Amino acid sequence: MAESGEKSALVDCNLLVAKALVRAGIDRMFGVVGIPVTSLANRAVALGIRFIAFHNEQSAGYAASAYGYLTGRPGILLTVSGPGCVHGLAGLSNAAANAWPMVMISGSCDQKDFGRGDFQELDQIAAVKPFVKFSVKAKHINEIPNAVFSVLDHAGSGRPGGCYLDIPSDVLHQTVTESEANKLLDEAESSRKIDPIKNVTKDEIAKAISLIRKAERPLIVFGKGAAIARAESELKDLVEKTGIPFLPTPMGKGLLPDSHDLAATAARSLAIGKCDVAIVIGARLNWLLHFGEPPKWSKDVKFILIDIDEEEISLRKPYLGLIGDAKSTLKVLNKEIKDDPFCLGRSHPWIEAITNKVKENVSKMEEQLAKDVVPFNFLTPMRIIRDAIAGLGSPAPILVSEGANTMDVGRSVLVQMEPRTRLDAGTWGTMGVGLGYCIAAAVASPDRLVVAVEGDSGFGFSAMEVETLVRYQLPVVVIVFNNGGVYGGDRRCPNEITGPYKDDPAPTSFVPGAAYHVLIEAFGGKGYLVGTPEELKSALAESFSARKPAVINVTIDPYAGAESGRMQHKN
Ligand code: ADP
Repeated sequence: MAESGEKSALVDCNLLVAKALVRAGIDRMFGVVGIPVTSLANRAVALGIRFIAFHNEQSAGYAASAYGYLTGRPGILLTVSGPGCVHGLAGLSNAAANAWPMVMISGSCDQKDFGRGDFQELDQIAAVKPFVKFSVKAKHINEIPNAVFSVLDHAGSGRPGGCYLDIPSDVLHQTVTESEANKLLDEAESSRKIDPIKNVTKDEIAKAISLIRKAERPLIVFGKGAAIARAESELKDLVEKTGIPFLPTPMGKGLLPDSHDLAATAARSLAIGKCDVAIVIGARLNWLLHFGEPPKWSKDVKFILIDIDEEEISLRKPYLGLIGDAKSTLKVLNKEIKDDPFCLGRSHPWIEAITNKVKENVSKMEEQLAKDVVPFNFLTPMRIIRDAIAGLGSPAPILVSEGANTMDVGRSVLVQMEPRTRLDAGTWGTMGVGLGYCIAAAVASPDRLVVAVEGDSGFGFSAMEVETLVRYQLPVVVIVFNNGGVYGGDRRCPNEITGPYKDDPAPTSFVPGAAYHVLIEAFGGKGYLVGTPEELKSALAESFSARKPAVINVTIDPYAGAESGRMQHKN
């Protein structure tokens, strides 16, 4: 009896990991179980963590990265050793590229057998190296609590990113007594230290304000960093106090409503081409913002960059760099700005120019959108989806968008009214993120519907995860723009169709008329096949009100849109 009593007081490593995660406030995990991490997932669930089990670590990793972005706390990916870890690299690299907080935890082979061809053997610390801010291998159970807290703290602090925790299978089998476990957890918790975020100085703020005041054509640009900082109310104050027009990056959309009077999105080229001072908040001057260089930007534009990452400021060499958290920096900036006579006002020539251009471009776009084109082009179904989403009001659904034309057209047509309600291919242009992002969004915001608008190619990367949607009964409606391939139909010139395999389908082609809606029905979800405005409206109305997993397979003209969407010059 005494012996079994003592045994029951033992804590195995799986349980210790779960306990450490719970202490750190983790309540969700994504992953694929198998050797040697199945017990770890079970222990986590037993302690109250919701474990979302996927078919593929790639999708689970995308989910963990997006969960980190949506919640501001590291998303956790659990994988098996070797190949599981390698599949998970997709998620880690996506977190790194997007600067999203995420931690991958992988089991690894037995330490004593490493180098001898053990089951799923891999030097996983070396494999993750290019994609992580920090990684650690726990070589003994005693190291677990410290290792868990360290990866979480590194992932979430400073510029967020991916971190990695490696736990060999022999360590997973080690045990400590319950009192030892508690002692290890207490010690590790009390030694946690997160570097404080640097605060901007009064002098830097004064310089920024003076520059903004003197500007004739100022512009505020904000992105994912402002979103993760939850800086929306400070952004609103800044925009409304100064009257400066704003331009969100694709995922910055919604931090202020797209319908705001000062939204310059529909006048993007004018706004960035002519502004003389740009206050860029939590957005990198990378390819998405044309590197902040001519010809898209004026050569004389003065950038004020607000970013949490000192290296980002050093890299871009702006006119003025403010290192700090977007929310707290804007708070100080707003406090120091005296509104009168600062506000530009509606009759200011710059505001008039932007407003007029917005009106002109919006009315041109609306003219195109108003047409009911059948077989569907991209615009007609997008308008119908936009209107159906608008009809839902608040809380607005989280929109997931990927695909070449589908994402490009969707970015201009679909409207974002609330913060962090848009997830797309992001900094890396990662295709195949859709289903993972949908699952993360549904898990992170149970009160919101999730609507994915994606190309058939993007959908296909992880289409099996529709089973995951059904299994967890997540309120996700996936709308597949089905044009039969990557970019749609075969666009090759006749002289490109030669050689012994010329009769194979084009590299861009899929099976025409693929019945993606039937795929979800195989698992008990709801599928719709639509090809007309009436059919689409009815499918949207039914699936949005049902709030159950659904796939709407929308037949699109295979020759609508363009190869590579708007990035043909790079293909
Ligand atoms: P987008 O794709 O929307 O342009 P990026 O991912 O390129 O955005 O840039 C986000 C930037 O935000 C990164 O440079 C990152 O360092 C920064 N960032 C992350 N968190 C914060 C924060 N809390 N405050 C300010 N900047 C942040």
